[in-house]
Amino acid sequence: MTIAPEQVPIYWQIGQSIHPCAVVTAMVHGDEFEGFVAALDVWKWVRTVDLQGSLMILPVCNPAAAQAATRHTPTRYDGLNLARTFPGVTGSSYTQQLAHALWNLIRDADALIDLHSGGVGYDYARLAGYYRDTDVDLAACFPKAFLWPVPATPGVLSYEFSRIKGKVSLGWECGGEARLDRAGADDYAIAVKRVLARLGVVARKGGGRVGHSRPRIGRTRRQTCSTAGWFLPELTVGSRIKRGQVIGQWIKPDLRVRELVSRHSGIVIAVRTLPRVEPGDYLVLVGELV
Ligand SMILES: [Zn+2]
Repeated sequence: MTIAPEQVPIYWQIGQSIHPCAVVTAMVHGDEFEGFVAALDVWKWVRTVDLQGSLMILPVCNPAAAQAATRHTPTRYDGLNLARTFPGVTGSSYTQQLAHALWNLIRDADALIDLHSGGVGYDYARLAGYYRDTDVDLAACFPKAFLWPVPATPGVLSYEFSRIKGKVSLGWECGGEARLDRAGADDYAIAVKRVLARLGVVARKGGGRVGHSRPRIGRTRRQTCSTAGWFLPELTVGSRIKRGQVIGQWIKPDLRVRELVSRHSGIVIAVRTLPRVEPGDYLVLVGELV
């Protein structure tokens, strides 16, 4: 299968390729709406400000997944997770080729901001992910977010951009639950505008202090389920949890109900909010506060 021209995602560019050149990507997962809405906002805004570099925006990186509102590319293409596929290869399956086409578009940028969310299945705390310690100040532009050194995950766009290009790379999370977290989308837009000013892509007005005392997440641990069933959570993202504390109810296929307790202590980073779960799904993601 080859990618038809109309299947290459829409991208917008301003300032041609003048450096510094930043890229904003959204909907690498087709069920994540916060970054998409923020990208539209940033594109409207950037045409009204004093541009000093250039900006490329890709509001819908995976059009096939976006049309289906699914995390992965639909199975009639190849069912792959675009966020495990970068930098992609030519002459392979749809998602591999899509990743390759996207990579070729963004590879010469000086900075990448990849906006994600919890999608249909999860609610996520605000995570201002970054890879290099020197980029903490940029990550801290995201209001009310935990600072998060993103773990190395091959195929993730922000990870591969950081690894291969060695440049500014940010990967952020917020909201989800199969809806638009409007406040999260608004703050994504605010954060992206701040980062663009700090990078010198747009003229900077004033000092724009950022919060250096923001809590930082260290190691994260998933609590997964080994069988199918339904999970009814009794905890919220951003709260503290202790090992042994009740995290919700577990309903087995035979409809027997029991309480589930946390296997970890820390900050609740993500909660499974779509009740139906399959074996191997994670129910809760808990992060160490460092
Ligand atoms: Zn995502």
